Parts: sequence; structure tokens; C-alpha cells
Amino acid sequence: MSQELYDLAIIGGGPGGLSAAIYGMRAALKTVLIEKEIPGGQINKSDSVENYPGFENISGSELAMKLAQHARVYGTEEINDEVTAVEPGLDFHIVRTAGGREIQTHAVILAPGGHPRKLSVPGEEDYYGKGVSYCAVCDGFFFRGKNVVVVGGGDTACEEGLYLAKLAAKVYLVHRRDALRASMILQKRVEAECKMEVLWNTVVTEIKANADGVNAVTLQDTQNGDKQDLPIDGVFIFIGFEPNNQLVPAGIRMSPDGFVVTNDQCATNIDGIYVVGDLRDRYARQIVLAAADGCMASLAAAHYVETRKAKMGDLTCVLPE
Ligand code: NAP
Repeated sequence: MSQELYDLAIIGGGPGGLSAAIYGMRAALKTVLIEKEIPGGQINKSDSVENYPGFENISGSELAMKLAQHARVYGTEEINDEVTAVEPGLDFHIVRTAGGREIQTHAVILAPGGHPRKLSVPGEEDYYGKGVSYCAVCDGFFFRGKNVVVVGGGDTACEEGLYLAKLAAKVYLVHRRDALRASMILQKRVEAECKMEVLWNTVVTEIKANADGVNAVTLQDTQNGDKQDLPIDGVFIFIGFEPNNQLVPAGIRMSPDGFVVTNDQCATNIDGIYVVGDLRDRYARQIVLAAADGCMASLAAAHYVETRKAKMGDLTCVLPE
């Protein structure tokens, strides 16, 4: 087992983690970024990002690449491994990985993001990859000229539905209420897209398939309870988001729905442990907010590490190699 000592360990290479790496390195913290997949996280699945300041329109994967490249400019050490545990300690915190690393660090920034919420209806799990999808950019291509259902009424459902409308013959947006939650600009675009039709006050109660994959959904009217089957080739589910909170150490304060409570410096109630991005309990979840969190957490961590080292009598600056 290898043992290493860092000032700052960042877990997760999405916009929050990468921004934290940029600020950590610029603050002369010996910084390591651990990511189990490719840098970028969820934004890799976005066809286009139109609200990250400075970029009127950029694909998620291109933005991810730019952020990762920016972090590399400062020499961020990157480890491609899965973190299995974060153990708070009095002297150092410990980060363990599936690859057998034991990383000792003064400060930890957790930036693991989240994942799509499941609809939890019959057929969803069985036909995942056979017509059920959580990513239009990844799977939309397979539905060229076909009919699809998009479930949800938020920004994601509308954006992904609009993307699918470029490929599919017809996109039904199934929403459980009589008003969309999405921003007005997206609502107007959905309204103007002739290939999209909103099915109001409707829920999907079952996804059905034959040997070729998904071929129908059962829809239920939420007002009168009536059910009917709609023949369909694919179902895209965008009903929100659940935080990846498995690595949050015991003792850290959480909201009832599983997000981590932090102060305005992204600090948790355990000294030296910070949370950024979508795992934070907050009003909105946006790329720019995750990036801003990364900045704030690293600046706060730099102050924390400096103070801690001074207390420990170590006044030497640990410069990145
Ligand atoms: P969201 O805003 O939480 O919307 C989830 C949608 O799914 C809501 O319309 C909700 O209905 C519906 N829903 C939830 N559970 C359901 C269920 N069991 N059955 C049927 N429908 C269900 O999630 P999101 O769209 O993924 O967005 C997450 C965050 O990211 C938001 O803050 C959003 O603004 C942000 N975002 C921003 C952009 C952008 O600005 N470009 C793009 C994507 C996401 P109700 O409305 O009835 O609750």
C-alpha cells in the first residue's frame, strides 16, 4: 500500500473539483485530484452549455476539457482511481482508494456530484440500455426518426427534449403537473418546437418492451386516474438529481434529502473537510456555482492548512513538485 502526504486532496474531477485544483495549486498547496472516470463529470453528457459566463455556447465535453487543461497548466497531480473512504483524523484526514492508496492530507474537498433520479416504475431497470436512457446526448442517435417520451418538467427535461427533437420524429414531454418547472426561456423553446408535445398532468406508470426493446409506456392521468398505453421507441428520464453522498464521513451534517450542509466557505462541521458543487445543500445547481465553490473551498482550505501548519510548528511552505 502506498502512503502519500498532501495539503489538499480533491475528490471528483467535475467543474467544482477542477476549479478547486486550479485555486489550490495557485495557493501553493500540494494538491492531488482523484477522479475515477474522465474529467468533467456530468457536464460531459451535456450537448450544449449556454450559461457558463464567457461561453455563449459550448459543448459540455469541450468545457470539461478546457477546465481539465486549465488545472493541468498549474501541474495538478491527478490520480485515476476510485475513492472508497474518507476518514477524518486529528492529525491528518485519510483518503483510501480502490487501487490501494492511502492518502494523508490536511484538507479534503469532496466534489463527487450526483446522479439522475430513478422513476422507479416497472420496466425502468429491466430495459435500461434497451430503450430507457438518462442521457440524450449519449443515446439520442439511436432514436433518429423515432418516437420518444421524455419524463420531467425541469430544465434538464426541456433541454434534453429539445436536443432529441433534432433527431427524433416526435418527442412527448410527460409532466406530472400543469406547469413546467423549467426556466421561461426553455419553456418558450419547447412551446415553439413543433416536434415536441407536452402531456400535462400525466405520469408514466410502466415501461413495456418486446424482443427489440421498449415499445410502449403506460400513461396515467393524475387528475382522473385514467390509464392508456402510448406506443413509443424510447424513454428518456430527467426527473431530478440525487447527490453522491456515499463518501461523506459519519458525523458530517446533512440535510434530510442527503445533501451536505456547509457554511459560506463550503466548510462542513468537520475541520478541513469541504464540500463543493452538487453535493452541497443549496438553492440552485449550476456549473458556474460548482466552479465558484471550488474557488471558495480552496481559498478557505489554503488558510486552514497554513494556520494548521503554523500551529504544528511547520512554517515551511510545501511547494508543488
Ligand atoms: P429539477 O429542476 O428538480 O426538475 C425535476 C423535474 O422532474 C420536475 O419537473 C419534477 O416535477 C419532475 N419529477 C420529479 N420527480 C418526479 C417523479 N417521480 N415523477 C415524475 N416527475 C418527477 O431537476 P433538473 O431539471 O435535473 O435540474 C436540476 C438543477 O439543475 C436545477 O437547479 C436546474 O435549474 C439546473 N439545470 C440548469 C440547466 C441550465 O440552466 N441550462 C440545465 C439543466 C439543469 P415537479 O415540477 O412537479 O416537481
